[in-house]
Amino acid sequence: MSQPAMRPPIESGCPDGFQYMHPVMRRNFGAWKYHEHPRPGVLLHVSEFGEKIWTVKAGTQRILDVFTLRKLCDIGDEYADGYVRFTIRSNIEYMIDAEEKVEPLINALEEAGFIVGGTRNSVSMISHTQGWLHCDIPGTDASGVVKAMMDELIDEFRTCNMPNRVHITTSCCQINCGGQGDIAINVQHTKPPKINHDLVANVCERPSVVARCPVAAIRPALVNGKPSLEVDEKKCICCGACYPPCPPMQINDAEHTKFAIWVGGNHSNARGKPTFQKLVASGIPNNPPRWPEATAIVKRILKVYQEDGQDWERINDWIERIGWPAFFEKTGLPFTRYHIENWRGARNTLNASTHIRF
Ligand code: SF4
Ligand code: SF4
Repeated sequence: MSQPAMRPPIESGCPDGFQYMHPVMRRNFGAWKYHEHPRPGVLLHVSEFGEKIWTVKAGTQRILDVFTLRKLCDIGDEYADGYVRFTIRSNIEYMIDAEEKVEPLINALEEAGFIVGGTRNSVSMISHTQGWLHCDIPGTDASGVVKAMMDELIDEFRTCNMPNRVHITTSCCQINCGGQGDIAINVQHTKPPKINHDLVANVCERPSVVARCPVAAIRPALVNGKPSLEVDEKKCICCGACYPPCPPMQINDAEHTKFAIWVGGNHSNARGKPTFQKLVASGIPNNPPRWPEATAIVKRILKVYQEDGQDWERINDWIERIGWPAFFEKTGLPFTRYHIENWRGARNTLNASTHIRF
């Protein structure tokens, strides 16, 4: 008996990126010889065949309305060659094949209110998670934090005055996307969730909520005759992992949801292993719409790094050289008991806090 014909899957996913690439990039794919940095915000790549391409980078607010997108595309059509790409840090990059197009493109971008920069040893655009706009669990507005901070760091984006590039990130909950970088500003919950027992049975799949807790602090319970959950508050580490699958376990709180700042996260490279960021400031007010306290600490860390870091040292290299005690001394940030990992599972992760290294 013949087999029934297999049904071919419908392919979906990313389209082939080559069709969107500048022709110079397509022609020289895999054959780039070197690159230069003529000025902040501009890169020049030269291929083995002698072809050149200039890339002009401008910051955007990442969450873009259609009018801004059209404006950016119109600038690309008029002043560049009609090719753009977005970087993972929400910068837009225009590719052009002639040096004389660089200046008019930069002028057009700046006249339209966009900031050109973010290359080489600058403070790059802050990458951030969704915030209040379109996630269901944020404890702060990550994109708002970015706007407030980049307003203050705009000159560090425009110029290249840091020892090396600085990648900053913000994340609006403690458990999911984002939040790793040279400097990371992350939400920090400081109290266990408050449970609305009337809603738990209707809304939550209780076994999966119990399974979700990393320290086994959640138990099934009968409250007012209804199936619900209870939290052992002595065990709870206030991570917020129970809140997404069970919204009646509200952990966001106007007063007790704070910010923490972590520094020194970096990927591995040819010279070193990956480094994990470590907590350097905690309990910072989550204070919209400008978050001045968190911004002040980030600026303080950047200023000391700028003055004390040696050429090409990333923040983690700088701290590795001077040591954590000197980091706290130079930045003036207090080292408190909250910096010490005292969770009982920490015997595997002691290396994660700033008081001990091995
Ligand atoms: S970091 Fe958390 S709250 Fe923010 S967008 Fe990601 S999942 Fe949502
Ligand atoms: S906040 Fe985290 S530790 Fe606390 S009960 Fe929820 S999942 Fe468990």
